[in-house]
Amino acid sequence: MLPRTRFAPSPTGLLHVGGVRTALFNRLFAKHSGGVFVLRIEDTDAVRSRREYEKAIMEDLAWLGLEWDEGPDKGGPFGPYRQSERLNIHLDYSKKLLNEDKAYYCYCSKERLRELKESRLRSGLPPRYDGRCRDGKPEGVPGNAAAIRFKVPDGKIEFEDMVHRRLSFEGAGMGDFIIIGSDNVATYNFAAAIDDSLMNITHVIRGDDHLSNTPRQIAVLNALGLEPPFYGHIPLVLSKDKTPLSKRDAALSVAALRENGYLKEAVLNSVARLGWSPGLRRVETPVNDLLTLNEMEILFNASALSKSPSIFDEESLKKYNRDAIAFASPESLYGLIAPEFKDMPREKLVYAIALAKNGAETTIEIGTRIKAVLKKPAWNESVCLLLSEERSKKILKTLAIEVLKTEKIDEASWKTVLAGLKKTDEKGKALFMPIRAALTGSIEGMEIENIARILGRDEILKRIKDGENACP
Ligand code: GLU
Repeated sequence: MLPRTRFAPSPTGLLHVGGVRTALFNRLFAKHSGGVFVLRIEDTDAVRSRREYEKAIMEDLAWLGLEWDEGPDKGGPFGPYRQSERLNIHLDYSKKLLNEDKAYYCYCSKERLRELKESRLRSGLPPRYDGRCRDGKPEGVPGNAAAIRFKVPDGKIEFEDMVHRRLSFEGAGMGDFIIIGSDNVATYNFAAAIDDSLMNITHVIRGDDHLSNTPRQIAVLNALGLEPPFYGHIPLVLSKDKTPLSKRDAALSVAALRENGYLKEAVLNSVARLGWSPGLRRVETPVNDLLTLNEMEILFNASALSKSPSIFDEESLKKYNRDAIAFASPESLYGLIAPEFKDMPREKLVYAIALAKNGAETTIEIGTRIKAVLKKPAWNESVCLLLSEERSKKILKTLAIEVLKTEKIDEASWKTVLAGLKKTDEKGKALFMPIRAALTGSIEGMEIENIARILGRDEILKRIKDGENACP
């Protein structure tokens, strides 16, 4: 059977690096074997779930190229794919469990449950329901049922985890957990277990934070006679200080990364390395370690998933981004840079991007570099001091003469200009510093050749002249 995997985000916030990894690994796992990747929106928490987040998550996944085959917008044979539209399905299954005496109504008040939890915690015990309503409504308890609880059977629940191998949990240690809350809505463990099985999900890859949920989900499915998927739990992503990456870490949302000038290739590549290593390369990659999504699909192997925690390293994200930018065609970057250069003809801007992009850490930096060249220089006092030196004057005069002889500045004509500058007997920094200072007003910046090519013949001549006037 071909694998079917899913990404099941709760639309309670933006998509973050950790979520991207879950989506990516599930998609890679399915696509490695020509399977199906499903998007299920887990929006049963009516208070915290928002349609805007659902939309944003879908946009971010699509931007990354992590397209799904079935989902709320696309439909599919196992819909609906939004959990809030499946509430009746969950309720029907809870009734089946009630009828078979595998679940029961719980009448305990919130206050009682809180006290129970606190007293267990005070005695150093993990919170667990004491089963007071297991055998029916206890005498003297007022009110209607507040929830439905699953009667967790005694005995072991064991499964073969794709990452941790054999895992074993004691049913008796779990306590009867709520499957339908007082709002008549299924809890996460109940809804996710049923939906995974009904959607024929074969493999679930998710974070270690779900490890304690898995035996509960398996127990529910066993009780219902439904088939559980295989599970693989990957260690949480940590930040550099070894604390879990938190959803609150706003800078690591896909939206923020995109806005800050990161390319999807960089995001995908740095996230892919969080607990997975591509191992032996079976495909040639053009730039360093950058893999395309397609190459990742070919190389992905769940047995290479690591058990040790992975640390999200912004430096490696930056490195991937520099590589991705260097590798990207200037045309493909144009749309990202163009909004800041509304008056610049497309051809000219594409040319400038081609010259400015190498070594840039983000696409924003490309724009900044181009702007630094284009903006009218302000020759400050220290720059003027340099320009008014005799040596500088001679260099700039020679430069003007050589540039005048050209029709336009390109790679070939710039070589000729450089050859002409030999006459000055200056070279290296001594030669280029006054030129850079005259052309940009600054003594540092992009390579002189690129500055010259972005400015073009006439602008170079104009700036030499303006610089001379500004710094007599
Ligand atoms: N909605 C859950 C979450 O966002 C899904 C967990 C799972 O993959 O089962 O954490």
